Amino acid sequence: MSASMQFPQHADVGLLSDSAGKQRLRRRLLTWFDRHARDLPWRRSRDPYRVWVSEVMLQQTQVATVIGYFERFTERFPTIESLAAAEEQEVLRMWEGLGYYRRARQLHAAARRIVDEHHGQFPRDPAAVRALPGIGRYTAGAILSIAFDDAQPILEANTIRVISRLLAFRGDPAGTVGQRLLWKAAGDLLPRRRAGDFNQALMELGSEVCTPVMPRCEECPVRPHCPTSRLGLQALIPAPKKKTRYEAVTQAAVVIERRGKLLLRQCGPDERWAGLWDFPRFPLQTLDDKSRCAEMADGVLKLTGLAVQLGPRLTTIKHGVTRFRITLECFRASAVAGRLRRGEVAMHWVSPADLDSYPLNVTGRKIVQCLAVN
Ligand code: SF4
Repeated sequence: MSASMQFPQHADVGLLSDSAGKQRLRRRLLTWFDRHARDLPWRRSRDPYRVWVSEVMLQQTQVATVIGYFERFTERFPTIESLAAAEEQEVLRMWEGLGYYRRARQLHAAARRIVDEHHGQFPRDPAAVRALPGIGRYTAGAILSIAFDDAQPILEANTIRVISRLLAFRGDPAGTVGQRLLWKAAGDLLPRRRAGDFNQALMELGSEVCTPVMPRCEECPVRPHCPTSRLGLQALIPAPKKKTRYEAVTQAAVVIERRGKLLLRQCGPDERWAGLWDFPRFPLQTLDDKSRCAEMADGVLKLTGLAVQLGPRLTTIKHGVTRFRITLECFRASAVAGRLRRGEVAMHWVSPADLDSYPLNVTGRKIVQCLAVN
């Protein structure tokens, strides 16, 4: 494949063929990282388990949110063996509020696999690491480089932005050409020693200095190497993503009471929040209150098998999930007839005092808090 096919014309790849330039860039970035690295709990050890947990938590989630979760999670499950031995419900309860619960289920499944297949030792072989549930190319590279100093490149939101700017790459970084170019550049820039620190330094630079909007180029240690800053193209590189189109959706959540207990339903494997528990929840179509009552009673019957007498509105919660902007109308209800559907998904009658031990999705927990004050 020719160089022009490998790299689009609008990327300045001169840096990648200039060994002395790359050396200077590495030195500048590592010196900056040594001085400016934030003191984060997962940086205090090179234990691959702790690096792994932090990397999984940091996917789609801000550092400030992750810190508390990381500390609680690793205190409760300090080793791969302790995580593998836990019940999935407890793992989900520790993850509650962090979102993207598939990450927690896969982390748990991978811990069990490591115990079964690798005697509880985190594998060193990249292929074995990538064979674990929930570990893709980025996460494998991050764990192996940070924990073992293996020269494995990484590419995630921050490094994509920094490297795109260092190459003045104006194409789509998520496209095939962009991904090939950026992965190659991430590998070419890696030093032979301190690969883990270098990867973390690139991420730190992207998070703290080379930000999406108004990067602080005047404070940037690699500015002498950056064509984007020289050309004033920071607002155009990386190429802006297409705007997400949001969709408004209305749903009902019904808190059904029977003899002092409340009904919780476990989300099935194909549902959003699989494995977590929720109050019976379903889409609402009608807008006027009168027809809405009939629709809700019907929705509860279909979902649970119970006939209910609807009570007062408890609260309305507005929240966003992926591209959906959801208005959740929460009502109380009393079960008056019928039997719980058995088989497809679990449903439990739970006393209010025991709600705390069930892993709930965020809105489920908000409803519990609302019940406590109503
Ligand atoms: Fe980013 Fe500016 Fe540094 Fe270039 S000089 S890498 S645009 S912060």
